[in-house]
Amino acid sequence: MVKFPYTRPRRLRGKKGIRDLVAETNISTRDLILPVFVNETVKSKQPLASLKGHYYYPPESKELIDYVQDNMELGIKGFLLFGVTNMKDYYGSRAYDKSGPVYRAVSNIRRQLGSEPVIFTDLCICNYTTHGHCGLPKDTRYGKVIDNDETLKIYRKIAVTQAEAGSDFISPSGMMDGQVKAIREALDSAGYSSVGIMAYSAKYASALYGPFRDVMDSSPGFGDRSTYQMDPRNLAEALKEVQLDIEEGADIVMVKPAMFYLDVIRTIKNTYPHVPLAAYNVSGEYMTLITAGEKGLIDLDKALLELAYSIKRAGADIIITYFAPRIAEILRTIGG
Ligand SMILES: [Zn+2]
Repeated sequence: MVKFPYTRPRRLRGKKGIRDLVAETNISTRDLILPVFVNETVKSKQPLASLKGHYYYPPESKELIDYVQDNMELGIKGFLLFGVTNMKDYYGSRAYDKSGPVYRAVSNIRRQLGSEPVIFTDLCICNYTTHGHCGLPKDTRYGKVIDNDETLKIYRKIAVTQAEAGSDFISPSGMMDGQVKAIREALDSAGYSSVGIMAYSAKYASALYGPFRDVMDSSPGFGDRSTYQMDPRNLAEALKEVQLDIEEGADIVMVKPAMFYLDVIRTIKNTYPHVPLAAYNVSGEYMTLITAGEKGLIDLDKALLELAYSIKRAGADIIITYFAPRIAEILRTIGG
C-alpha cells in the first residue's frame, strides 16, 4: 500500500525542459555512420529505386566528395563504403584490385578531404563474385560448400588494399571463422597496425537485407547464407562470436540487423562493456519505415528518433544507418 506523500513519476514529465534534463538516453550525429555505395559502372550519381534517397556514386567523382562533405557539415563523421562492380569473377578479385571501386573511392576522399572523415570499408566478396557468396564455394561429394580458410586468403588481400587506400577501419562482413585474426595479421605484417577492425560479429541470416542485395547485386547464386550467418533463434551464440572477435583483435564489434535484435545488443553490452558496440540498422528496416511514412501511417521523423533512442538504449554506441542524414537534420531542428 503506497502512502501519501508518494512519488509521482509524472512530475518529471511536466515540461520539455524537465524531460530533457532527466532523459536517460541521448543521440548525437557523432554516433552515426552513413553507408555509401560506390559503383564503378556509373558515370554520374544514380538514384537507387530499392533504397530511396540513396545513390550510386562514381568512385572518382566530385559528387562523392560533395556527398561526404555535406554530411560532415551535418555532423556525421563516419562513412561505411560498399563497392559495386560488373567485373565479377570466382575470387572477387575486383575487391583487392587497386583499380576497383573502393580503392579508388577511398583514395579520392583522402585526396580531397584529408584525414578527417572516418572511413570504414566493408570487406566481403559477395558483391564481387559470380557466385554471390561471401566465401569461395567448392564442390564436395556432399554438394557445394563454402571453403572457410581459402576465403580468408582473399580477405587478407582485400584488407591490405583497403588499408593502403586510406581506410581507417576494415569491416569484415562475411562471417567466416577466424576472419578478424586473418585480417589483423595481414594488416600488421603489411605495416598497417594502426588501421582498425570493425567486425560484423553477430550478423544474422535475416530476411531484412533484400533492398541492400538488390543495390549490391549480391544475392547468392545457389543456396543461402545460413551456413555462415547466424541463426535468428540464437542469443548465447552471439556472445561466442563477439568473444572470438575480441580475442582475435576486433576494435569495434557489431550486431546486424538492429531492430529485431535489441536483446542481442543489450546482452553484448552487458557482457563486454569495454568494447565499442555498433548496430546496423539495415536496408529492410529502412524501407519498411520509409514506406509506412510515405503512406502517412506513421510520423516518420518521430519514429526515427524513437528508433535511434531504442538502439542506443539497448546499449549500442554507434548506429550504422541509411537514415543518418535525416536523423542529423531532425537533431538540428530540435536542437539535439
Ligand atoms: Zn557478403
